[in-house]
Parts: sequence; C-alpha cells; structure tokens
Amino acid sequence: MKENKIIVLGAGLGGLSSAVLLSELGFKVEVFEKNLQVGGKINEFRKNGFRFDTGATLLTMPFILENYFECLKYDIRDYLQLISIPVICKYFWLDGTNFTAFNDKKMLGYEIINKFGEKEYQKFLKIIKYSEKLYKTAFEKFLTTEFKIINYINLSGLKNFKRFLTNESYHSFITKYLTNPKLIQVLDRFTTYNGSSPYLAPRFFSIIPYVEFNFGGWFVKGGIYKIIEFLRKECEKRNIKINYGQEFVHLDHYGGKIVNLYFKNNISKEPYRISGFDIVVSNFTNNEELYPKYLYEDTDFNWSLSGFILFLGVKGKSEILEHHNILFPNDYHKEFDYLFNKKIPTNDMTIYISISSKNNPEDAPEGYENWFILVNSPNLEGTTKWSDLYSETFKNIILNRIEKYGIKIKDRVLFYKFFTPEDFLKKYNAEFGSIYGIASNSLKSLFIRPANKSTLYDNLYFTGGNVHPGGGIPLCFLSAKIITKLIAKKYGKNFSC
Ligand SMILES: Cc1cc2nc3c(=O)[nH]c(=O)nc-3n(C[C@H](O)[C@H](O)[C@H](O)COP(=O)(O)OP(=O)(O)OC[C@H]3O[C@@H](n4cnc5c(N)ncnc54)[C@H](O)[C@@H]3O)c2cc1C
Repeated sequence: MKENKIIVLGAGLGGLSSAVLLSELGFKVEVFEKNLQVGGKINEFRKNGFRFDTGATLLTMPFILENYFECLKYDIRDYLQLISIPVICKYFWLDGTNFTAFNDKKMLGYEIINKFGEKEYQKFLKIIKYSEKLYKTAFEKFLTTEFKIINYINLSGLKNFKRFLTNESYHSFITKYLTNPKLIQVLDRFTTYNGSSPYLAPRFFSIIPYVEFNFGGWFVKGGIYKIIEFLRKECEKRNIKINYGQEFVHLDHYGGKIVNLYFKNNISKEPYRISGFDIVVSNFTNNEELYPKYLYEDTDFNWSLSGFILFLGVKGKSEILEHHNILFPNDYHKEFDYLFNKKIPTNDMTIYISISSKNNPEDAPEGYENWFILVNSPNLEGTTKWSDLYSETFKNIILNRIEKYGIKIKDRVLFYKFFTPEDFLKKYNAEFGSIYGIASNSLKSLFIRPANKSTLYDNLYFTGGNVHPGGGIPLCFLSAKIITKLIAKKYGKNFSC
C-alpha cells in the first residue's frame, strides 16, 4: 500500500507536534525549517552556566500536554516532569503594594480578601463562575474542533455562544463586576496572553481567568525547551527527517492542490524544488502564496503585540520576587494606546520578570539568578527602529524603572543580551514582529483567524499559534490534534484520542 507523504513547513511547536502525531498515524513525514535549530519561538539560550527559555515561560492547562502524550501511547512522566509552581504570578505597583496569585485556591482567596476586601473577592468568584461556564462550552465547541463559521451561525451554534459573542470588551465585562483598579489590572493583563488589548478584545476572553486560576501555573523540570527536545528526539526516533536552514519561498499548484514546493538555502543560488508529497502542513501563514492577505477578509484588524526581551545573568537572590512577576504601570490604558494606536513604546510600561532558577535551580550558578524580562512592544507597523543604540537605551530605561519598585538590579547585572521585535521578524518571519499573528482586538477577529484547513488548496493545512484555536503552548498542541484528525479522516484512518 502506498505510504502517504506529508511535508511540514516550519519546526516550531506547531510544526513539530503535528509532525510527530501524523507519523504516529503511519504517515511518512519530512520537515523543512529555515533556522538551524528547532523550536521556533520556544528556544533556549545558555551562557556562563545560565540557561534561559527564550519564548514561553509559563505552562498552563497541563492536561492538554498530558493528553498529547496519551495520543502517542506514552506516559508523560517517562519523558517530562511537570512542576506545579506555588505562586502563579506576583504583581507589583509603583506605590509599593503587591499581590500574590497563589496556585492554592484558599490562599488565593485569603490574599484577595486581604488586599482588596471580601466584597471584591465575592465579585471575583462570580467572574470565575462565568468564566468556567464559557470555558466548558468553548473547550468542546471551539478550542478542540476545526473552526468553521457555519458551526456558529446555525441554531445550536448560536445557542452555545449567544451570551458570549458580543462586542462588549473584555475590560468592560470585568469592570461590571470588579471595582478595585489593581485587581482589574491583574485580570485585564490576561488578554496579552495572545498579544491583544483588554480594552479591545471581546468578552469571549473571559475564559482565561478560569483557565489561569483553576488549572494553575506550571513549569517543566529542566526548562520549557524540554518539550521541544522531546519532540526533536521523537522525530529522530520515527525517521522524520528535519531539513535545517531550508526556507520555503514559493509553490506551484495544479487542480486545487499544491504540487511543488520551493526552498532556498545558503548553498544553492536558485530555489530548489521538491514534489511527490500528498499533504502540506504549514506552521506559519506569513507567505502570500500559502495564505494571501485578502483571506483575512477585513482591513480592520491589528497584528498582535511584539516584545522586547532582556536576558540577564544576575548576582545574588531577589527574595521579594517569585518565578513570575509583573510590574504594572500607573496608566494601563495609556500603555495600550501607545502599543496599538501610537505604535511606539512607552516608558510607563508593564515589565514581566521570569526567574526560572527559582523553581529550576540548575538554570543559574549557585548564588545567581537568570532573569528573563519581557516588555510588551508595538509590532513593526510603527516607526520605531530597534537599532543597538535604541535597544541599549530602552534596556537602561527598563532597569531604572525596575528599581522604582524597590527591586535592586542595576549593580547586579553580570551580563545581558536583548532580543527585539525586529529579531522576531528576522529570525521567525513573524509578521511585523508580532508574537501571535493577528490580535484578537475585536469580535470579528475571532472569525478571521486562519482556519486549520486551507480554503485555497485541498492538500494544505495550518498548525501553530497563529491559526485556530490560537497562541500559546496548549493551543498549539490542540491545533496539531485538529489537523491530525482532519487528515486522518481524509485517508480513512482512525484517530481517537
Ligand atoms: C516572548 C514570548 C513569550 C511567550 N510566553 C508564553 C507563555 O508563557 N506560555 C505560553 O503558553 N505561550 C507563550 N508564548 C507563545 C508560544 O511560545 C507560541 O504561541 C508558540 O511557541 C508558537 O509556536 P508556533 O509553532 O506556532 O510558531 P513558531 O514558534 O513561530 O514556529 C514557526 C517556525 O516556522 C519557521 N519558519 C517561518 N517561516 C519559514 C519559512 N518560510 N520556511 C521554513 N521555516 C519557516 C520559523 O523559523 C519557526 O521555527 C510566548 C511567546 C513568546 C515569543
């Protein structure tokens, strides 16, 4: 019997997790990646005994990862050790106050009552209840299935989502319940998990508070990059060839199918061609031939946020900080106005500090810490040019700013390295340096996110954080499952996990 061949374009989390799952079903799979290493935005940087994850730092919904291993008939515990972290995130304000989001629900409750009062806690619980209801509908009807508009405009689809599919913004939904500006800010931040603004993203994203506070925050022993290492080793074990340094540039199609793919590399002068495959799975949409812009069907959408990242080797231990920390600005609304309207960085910014050596001590030498600092940044549609000089200045602004929260850093930096929005574009071909593809800054944006099956070519599928169901580690795994289900069905194969 003929073995069907699948080409996967891109070896990010979406591409690799799809490649491995498809090979489990018996397909012959080959991967082409433009960079010389796998992982895409989830990568690793090591220096002088320090280790840093360069992209994702927090794992949520760990059961999705566990289920992925079950699909491969593995027990995850034989491969990865997931660590539940006692504090999901600690939040700081410039007036010297802070709030600790404990993983333990009772402790979280006490902390909310302590910092914001009993009344506010009762209202918080109401949000979580609403969020749970939405999550339960969305998980089955939206997150784990192929997105087809028809599923939502028929009667039963409408019944499921009627209450949630409204133009009301996430922020105005939250403020219907909460009155404390700090607790509002804590919940508002969740829309940045997919690079969007709380003031524009629809109420649909009220799904996130339940996900965050119910399933908690997790880390992987040895680093988030262990997930990618597992997938790379699986590719090796399953004879999935990964072609490094090969950038997809162009395609030929015939009869509604892609028939040839062209790649460039550093060796051949002209792009070379490959053919003889049945299916193409793409881990990106940022190529006009794979996904023309007109398919967004709308000129009124934003590309998601980008980020400015600082990796710091830091002397000494910061007792006041946890593994995940947020330093909030005074004026959150103004920050998003800068990010999405003015499209320039602001000095009154949110600063995220992740110190994985808190829960994974091997990530830094004894007596030191590995700081990963992420500052939301406008994507490259604006005028900012991230030259070395500009980045250096921005780095100094960030370090000065951190000290304003009573956190000592300037004299403790052993070394630093930065990664800018322009690096996101150069390294990963990320559209305008955006981290999550299009932002979910309107109700309509939920419907214009690229689907998992191409509408142009019968043998093209999309996987990863830029397509349905969305960005982040768990959703990338879900997209891999969705396309595997679709491809299995096409070839009459059984895929039920
Ligand atoms: C700074 C940062 C922090 C984050 N924090 C979290 C977090 O805490 N928790 C969480 O769950 N998620 C987080 N995320 C999101 C998560 O990391 C991403 O959603 C996920 O890694 C996206 O994976 P992907 O496979 O879709 O895309 P990518 O990682 O972008 O992979 C696409 C791959 O395709 C390759 N490629 C592109 N163009 C071509 C071409 N023409 N030819 C060949 N190859 C090509 C790229 O090089 C890349 O390897 C974060 C992301 C970033 C950047």
